[in-house]
Amino acid sequence: MSDIVAVYTQKCADYGENNIQTAIDHLLSQMGGIASLVPKNAKVFVKVNLVREMSPEKCGTTHPEVAVAICKQLLTVTPYVTVGDSCAGMYNKGMLASVYARCGMTAIEERTAAKLNQNFETGEACVNGIVLRNCEITNAFLDADVVINVTKLKTHSFTGYTGAVKNLFGLIPGMVKVEMHSRFPNLPDFCNLLVDICEFARPKIVLNVIDAVWGMDGNGPTNGKPKFMGQLLASTDPYALDAVAVSMFGDPTEMPVLQAAIKRGLLQQDLSNIRFDFKQWQSCRISDFDAPPVDHVDFFGNQPAWINRIAKRYMVKRVYPDKTCRGCGKCATHCPAKAITLVNRRAKVDQSKCIHCYCCQELCPFNAVRFRTSLLYKLARRFSGKRGKNT
Ligand code: SF4
Ligand code: SF4
Repeated sequence: MSDIVAVYTQKCADYGENNIQTAIDHLLSQMGGIASLVPKNAKVFVKVNLVREMSPEKCGTTHPEVAVAICKQLLTVTPYVTVGDSCAGMYNKGMLASVYARCGMTAIEERTAAKLNQNFETGEACVNGIVLRNCEITNAFLDADVVINVTKLKTHSFTGYTGAVKNLFGLIPGMVKVEMHSRFPNLPDFCNLLVDICEFARPKIVLNVIDAVWGMDGNGPTNGKPKFMGQLLASTDPYALDAVAVSMFGDPTEMPVLQAAIKRGLLQQDLSNIRFDFKQWQSCRISDFDAPPVDHVDFFGNQPAWINRIAKRYMVKRVYPDKTCRGCGKCATHCPAKAITLVNRRAKVDQSKCIHCYCCQELCPFNAVRFRTSLLYKLARRFSGKRGKNT
């Protein structure tokens, strides 16, 4: 049975230094102050979302101003504060130097005494989850005493939404994440993997923060549109926090990763374990948020295999690189199913191999990967009332 947990929110109009610091200070004081969450002189790892090299204005990564404000708070209780992430692609000094610079994270070292993570070693950890037993995990996480999980509110082509729980997938080093997509191509299994990682990490996580001042809708998590939401959210519980965040634009109980948490008793189906005024929160609902449809390729459940084969063929969004593809090969290098080849300097997808993880869409620096859906898919969406603007 899930415990009663509180979620806190704070309106914030923009990423101005004073506005963000005031909002973070206010959020933390509602939670009893940073000293009540982080032990004195603890070694803290601030896990931000740095999915790939992109400027803060694109709204695909944790805004540096939010990270700076949290670091300033942390430095009042401990001098040992490190900020980092394992982005898509290689997990090494060269790659992260470029990501830190492009994402504006160098501001952290310029304006505070916190450090950007430079330890790219990893260790084997016993996750002991339902679908994942052992996994390679970054030492940045393993070596920390406590962890602050600071993410961005975004849509996600595969999981529908990415927030506090999904951000922890970045505790797995770069290319191992590709292997995970290959091992868990089915959405419910992948969501159970996310919950396994979250449960493994949770004993160290003392605070989760969602940066939703500007979020991302449409083709998230990297090629969507910036969306003003005007909120910062915080909780000690990542599932409750995600549930409140999703309720700004949709039904949390329909989000696959939260469904997995509900099935495992980590969140109540009626959200009654969350101490939060959902009624008042209605006024913050974003009515024109463009949420992508979520594909459940096994949604026919225990039906005969031939029905599932049809579902897998016609009831998924297919990816195809369009004419704007520049042939950089990034998608081909990272495709877990090895379904992409470069033909005449343009990416080509072998649909029979594709496992619909949408990593190529997430990684393409030129937003060249589009989705195509069948008529059957569109009709099913229409009749199930789950029609997204991207279908
Ligand atoms: S689709 Fe994007 S990532 Fe793939 S080769 Fe083309 S430009 Fe590069
Ligand atoms: S082609 Fe794209 S969606 Fe398909 S498996 Fe490869 S990375 Fe995933």
